[in-house]
Amino acid sequence: VLEHGQPEHSAVTTCAYCGVGCAFKVEMRGEEVVRMMPYKDGKANHGHSCVKGRFAWGYTTHKDRITKPMLRAKITDPWKEVSWDEAISHVASEFKRIQAEHGKDAIGGITSSRCTNEETFLVQKFVRAGFGNNNVDTCARVCHSPTGYGLSTTLGTSAGTQDFDSVMDSDVIMIIGANPTDGHPVFGSRMKQRLRQGAKLIVIDPRRTDIVHTPHVDASYHLALRPGTNVAVINALSHVIVSEGLVNEAYVRERCDWDEFSDWASFILDPKNSPEAVEAVSGVPAQTIRDAARLYATGGNAAIYYGLGVTEHSQGSTAVIAIANLAMATGNVGRSGVGINPLRGQNNVQGSCDMGSFPHEFPGYRHVADDSVRHIFETEWKVPLSDNPGLRIPNMLDAAVDGSFKGIYIQGEDIVQSDPDTKHITAGLSAMECVVVQDLFLNETSNFAHVFLPGSTFLEKNGTFTNAERRIQLVRKMMAPRNGYEDWEVTQLLGQAMGMNMHYTHPSEIMDEIARTTPSFAGVSFKLLEEKGSIQWPCNEAAPEGTPVMHVGHFVRGKGKFVITDYIATDEKTGPRFPLLLTTGRILTQYNVGAQTRRTPNVAWHEEDLLEIHPHDAEERGIKDGDWVKLASRSGETSLHAKITDRVAPGVVYTTFHHPATQANVITTDYSDWATNCPEYKVTAVQVSLSNGP
Ligand code: SF4
Repeated sequence: VLEHGQPEHSAVTTCAYCGVGCAFKVEMRGEEVVRMMPYKDGKANHGHSCVKGRFAWGYTTHKDRITKPMLRAKITDPWKEVSWDEAISHVASEFKRIQAEHGKDAIGGITSSRCTNEETFLVQKFVRAGFGNNNVDTCARVCHSPTGYGLSTTLGTSAGTQDFDSVMDSDVIMIIGANPTDGHPVFGSRMKQRLRQGAKLIVIDPRRTDIVHTPHVDASYHLALRPGTNVAVINALSHVIVSEGLVNEAYVRERCDWDEFSDWASFILDPKNSPEAVEAVSGVPAQTIRDAARLYATGGNAAIYYGLGVTEHSQGSTAVIAIANLAMATGNVGRSGVGINPLRGQNNVQGSCDMGSFPHEFPGYRHVADDSVRHIFETEWKVPLSDNPGLRIPNMLDAAVDGSFKGIYIQGEDIVQSDPDTKHITAGLSAMECVVVQDLFLNETSNFAHVFLPGSTFLEKNGTFTNAERRIQLVRKMMAPRNGYEDWEVTQLLGQAMGMNMHYTHPSEIMDEIARTTPSFAGVSFKLLEEKGSIQWPCNEAAPEGTPVMHVGHFVRGKGKFVITDYIATDEKTGPRFPLLLTTGRILTQYNVGAQTRRTPNVAWHEEDLLEIHPHDAEERGIKDGDWVKLASRSGETSLHAKITDRVAPGVVYTTFHHPATQANVITTDYSDWATNCPEYKVTAVQVSLSNGP
């Protein structure tokens, strides 16, 4: 039954949930969506979709949508609806006042991985050119910032090396810290298609994810490592490859810096990196490590896909580098069927990183201290720009607590709900004088806001998203924004009120500016996207058709760089009070904190977060399946229902983080990646005990 009758018109757009980037034909009747049909010509999905993209668009018209701007003097005051004019001029005058009283570095902004490339580009421009500092960051800080650091360092660019179709040429698929069947379902199905054809599978994950054993697919090896030991295990795989003469020496000599390789090879041969030594650390049998390493190195085209189980660690960046070392040593970068592929979580997290959402980088991953790059943007924007890297999200909050950071513009990001160390975040926001939240719904962060600017959904705007395979795809406006403006228009109004010369009439003009200033996007335009349907960056004079596979012939940085990756155990230790290790993940039918999926009118979306615990650990605590349990860490505690399962090993527990009531981030620690501050969400020492519920 079609929800609003027969369709009258339709257009193709891009899913706003995950980084697969499925294309959908949206069928409309007037301003109502009749249905979303997976688009058969979508290059990322080939006519497939998952339940979220196909059915979970009801949030667009949900009664909880805020459609009018709101102000309040204090966060304890009730909200007062105001006109857009009043809200915009209030924000501008507050930000100007703060800068006059506390200096230009006292304010900053956070971009959204849910918004379009054009909207993200505009927010970072607003901060750099309007605020005059580089205090801009993104939610990628808490997910794939180690990917940025690790892949830029070793290969020269911060992106997955392959298109999704490449997996059909893989002979060996290694999945590390990712759960594609739940997290990236359409690509997960494509992987399974290839596995059913005979490709071999290696899974490195503390939990037995669905893909380890699904119909007609059995992983050759599941390395169920102790959470926090990725670097040790990946080093051990490399140890086997180097010690058993399985290095692709011709590839390394031609493509990589040989001296750096030699230093790395000496390091990797150290007995501390042997499978036997690593078995003691990780719990993975040495023989399984040896067998998996041999399969990866000798099984033909070997591709690595990884997720937040790699990045959200105190050694997240080290693990990404260790993966790159492993792939380069075996010659598995630079052709179809191989490569290193971060499975990006949010629909446009790749794009938000590409668009310069980091405090040290302009769009295209170019450092703010690079005079020649700064000159490009100063010429385009006609203002001097700071060469000082700005503050990351945690540093903005630190500075707020210290009293030197006073105002923030947060577009489409619920940092209180989704970032670690909730107490520190709320303390930082509470200390600010002007917190501006732009979002679809009131959320945990807006509890600390002085200004709420209503946001627009993907069905209400034009623009582009970039998926996990660097594929730029159009997002088409299907209905007028309920709040009156697309998000980029709101940023433009704020910029104008702050004195900026911004007068775009359509997001295509913003993309033209991106293309003028960012070499990897030099050939991208809305016209080309209309013609081709999608395009993978880099797209420029050298690659006018885009680039499905990167690093062909040579690495973006020239020679591939081997880097020594010493394993350093996390400071988060188990002990008598907190004897178990908690790790986290997702389920298919929910998305992140559930702001959208939970607002879809269908009970199937309302599954609760459960705590998976091994039968042995449950029995020790007198816990039965379905019991309420208290989950406590050194940081805080929460209550969930227990699910007894041997998917997790003894000593490990697991939960999802889709429901605000679960408050998983109250439990997690404030440890973070040494290079990027990406929080260590995946390792928390906890105790589990029977409880009477919340
Ligand atoms: Fe949307 Fe991802 Fe599902 Fe595709 S796999 S429909 S992009 S949520």
